[in-house]
Amino acid sequence: MNPAEPIPVGLLGATGMVGQQFVRQLAGHPWFRLAWLGASDRSAGRSYGEATHWVQDRRMPAELAGMVVRAGAPAADCPRLVFSAMHASVAGPIEESFARAGHVVLSNARNHRMGADVPLVVPEVNPEHLGLIARQRRERGWPGAIVTNPNCSTITLALALAPLRGLGIRRVIVSTLQAVSGAGYPGLAAVDVLGNAIPFIGGEEERLATETLKVLGEVRVDEEGIDPHGAVVSAHCNRVATVDGHLLCVSVELAARPTPAEVRAALAEFRGRPQELGLPTAPARPVQVVEGPDRPQPRRDAMAGLGMAVSVGRVRECPILGIKFAALGHNTIRGAAGASVLNAELLVAEGLLS
Ligand code: NAP
Repeated sequence: MNPAEPIPVGLLGATGMVGQQFVRQLAGHPWFRLAWLGASDRSAGRSYGEATHWVQDRRMPAELAGMVVRAGAPAADCPRLVFSAMHASVAGPIEESFARAGHVVLSNARNHRMGADVPLVVPEVNPEHLGLIARQRRERGWPGAIVTNPNCSTITLALALAPLRGLGIRRVIVSTLQAVSGAGYPGLAAVDVLGNAIPFIGGEEERLATETLKVLGEVRVDEEGIDPHGAVVSAHCNRVATVDGHLLCVSVELAARPTPAEVRAALAEFRGRPQELGLPTAPARPVQVVEGPDRPQPRRDAMAGLGMAVSVGRVRECPILGIKFAALGHNTIRGAAGASVLNAELLVAEGLLS
């Protein structure tokens, strides 16, 4: 279903790193028109141009620079569909207040992701999890809803593992090299990260394991919840001095014991619901298998599929778990704003917004 008129949308956390990426993703979007901007009290009442320390490599859209930023509270003129890029320290109750007021909130924040009645969706991997919206509305009495996308490294891992589900995923070991833009703005002090690598990102290893298993999980027969995937995931998360693009080194044990060539074929053939529906920002190939002994690389591959495709390379035998490879995803596009926009396109196309 293509909307006859662009649908007005709101954006909470519009001034931050992910918020700015939303602004980029929504500029010229064929289905959505950014009509309302929200942020903290620090920004409320100021123009978007004044309140935002713009760090994108394209200019701020002129029509937004003069738009007045609003406080993070439901307002009569806020559209029904609202994206959220708020800091996790504040996102939980604010997103709930919007859902209670009738808004459908598409959130990047971690607060509600693991809720038993909250869809945690990567549209190519688990579009059927949107069925949880019915339970959420029934139990919470909300006229609106909260739909979440996983964190940036989880989206890359889930997209790289989803094509292998039919081969029986048993155990996964993943080590990440995560870009500084993943820490928001101003993020890390230059003196801490330049020429350095930090082997700790608070809570990220637990999130990478639990969110991946929820996304790869199955809707229970009674449709009341999600049974997480039965695999075991062990994660090591590291911050490195790249700007955009999280690189993941993955070893995986698959029950079917496929060859590297069979794994490459499964990855390259993978398509999902967004590709079937021809959603506007769906990449033609959600997983791109890259050749070359030194790929994928953040600088060269993060923008694959306009930042919406995950690049996988170096698929080879692992002497311990069977198969290993490197996977790369753009953390603020496929890993955040672009993920939410694709979720919104799926909701519209499936008629779930009404
Ligand atoms: P950020 O740069 O620190 O931006 C945080 C945003 O939250 C700002 O717009 C800020 O507004 C707003 N905010 C703070 N307090 C608020 C309040 N009380 N009411 C309304 N808005 C408030 O963070 P970020 O990196 O963009 O991350 C945003 C969210 O996305 C976080 O939950 C993060 O975990 C998640 N995420 C980030 C990435 C990534 O790669 N960066 C990837 C996936 C998910 P002011 O400017 O007015 O303070």
